[in-house]
Amino acid sequence: MHRSRLTAEAKMVFSAMTPDEVWMEEALRQAQRALEAGEVPVGAIVVCHGQIAGRGFNRNLLDNDPSAHAEMVALRQAARSLGNHRLLECEMYATLEPCPMCAGALMHARVRRLVYGADDPKAGAVHSVLPVLNYPALNHSMQVERGVLAGRCGELLQAFFRGRRAEQKS
Ligand SMILES: [Zn+2]
Repeated sequence: MHRSRLTAEAKMVFSAMTPDEVWMEEALRQAQRALEAGEVPVGAIVVCHGQIAGRGFNRNLLDNDPSAHAEMVALRQAARSLGNHRLLECEMYATLEPCPMCAGALMHARVRRLVYGADDPKAGAVHSVLPVLNYPALNHSMQVERGVLAGRCGELLQAFFRGRRAEQKS
């Protein structure tokens, strides 16, 4: 009986989530995979017509690849699976504000909309450090929604860096 009550509550919580939050949950699951692999926990997905076309998590260490950010991995997978380097109908959900490289790739791909969680005050290229995305002289404008599940997206990163600092001290 107790159990069914919890399930009902869980259902209520789930139904109260916005569609953006439901997709961000999936990006957070990707970030969790990065964390488990010892990578900086950032995750991203590409959604096209209500379906996931690409998923990615940071894999710089796994792949020895400086460009293997979550967003790049997800964009590559989406472009391959859709058979098109333009992702005009697609949206990206990323747990962290994209860096200049990823913002550039999002624009090359002509992604329609970007939704992200936490701001990145060190390298964010949407509004925090360098406004690469939607820079007025560049010829593509993208809808942007920021701060979706930002607390959880940021907490995952903070926990990771706290752990790393503690490791370095010991
Ligand atoms: Zn990046």
